[in-house]
Amino acid sequence: MRDFTLKSYRSLLHAFQQANYEFQTFEEFLSQPNEGKTVVMRHDVDELAWNALKMAQLENRMGVKATYYFRIVKQSNVPEVIETIARLGHEVGYHYEDLVLAEGDEKKAMETFEEHLTYFRKYYPVKTVSMHGSSSSRFDNRLLWKNHGLSDYGLIGEPYLSIDFNQVFYMTDTGFAWDGGKYATRDVVESNFDLKFHSTSQVVRYIEQGGYPEKVMILAHTLWTDNWFQWYGLHIREFFRNNMKLIAKKNRFIGDLYGKMVKLYWKK
Ligand SMILES: [Zn+2]
Repeated sequence: MRDFTLKSYRSLLHAFQQANYEFQTFEEFLSQPNEGKTVVMRHDVDELAWNALKMAQLENRMGVKATYYFRIVKQSNVPEVIETIARLGHEVGYHYEDLVLAEGDEKKAMETFEEHLTYFRKYYPVKTVSMHGSSSSRFDNRLLWKNHGLSDYGLIGEPYLSIDFNQVFYMTDTGFAWDGGKYATRDVVESNFDLKFHSTSQVVRYIEQGGYPEKVMILAHTLWTDNWFQWYGLHIREFFRNNMKLIAKKNRFIGDLYGKMVKLYWKK
């Protein structure tokens, strides 16, 4: 059976609800933490913004609130989608990549960060942000916070900076698997949880059995789809992309070439 479809996403949300987990947005999780079992459902909208809307609508129908981080690039920044998702009661945040866009120029990056933050605040009073991994770039977007404070920008959280992942279990769907971490270059966190899952049905079974951690942040991108054609297309692309990443890590020439191609594709 195909995994990472809206159908399997629904089964995951359902399992959490049956096990009495409460869903909180990241903003709520930080400002008014829940006592008991809690899930923060986080969506980094790297691309396919319309898929994000489908996920948001499904969540809304199930009474689930989630957090959506949008990039400034056109594949993610679709006003109609951002507006609707905010209206559905979800949290909206900024998925920033300003240090990469400014090619490491910290001053310029801070300027555009502020500009972009102001832009997204037209749709929602943004309180949290998450960094985009930009795996093909040599710059790490997180370093924006080396000399600056989140609170200076009216922000209260950044997942990589504000969460102790030894207390909060973290799961991400990188590479269409819950254990695809080897393909992630920067979306990785230090954690002492000794739990590994591959498919969504494995996660669901584990939640049903009651052994799943109490506090969890799940990063689900927007590649979940019921559309057969899109599903196969995305899986084939992911296969090539992951192999490119592995080759690029070993070969600098291919790495640079791949980096240039990615930059061209993600033009603002
Ligand atoms: Zn991203």
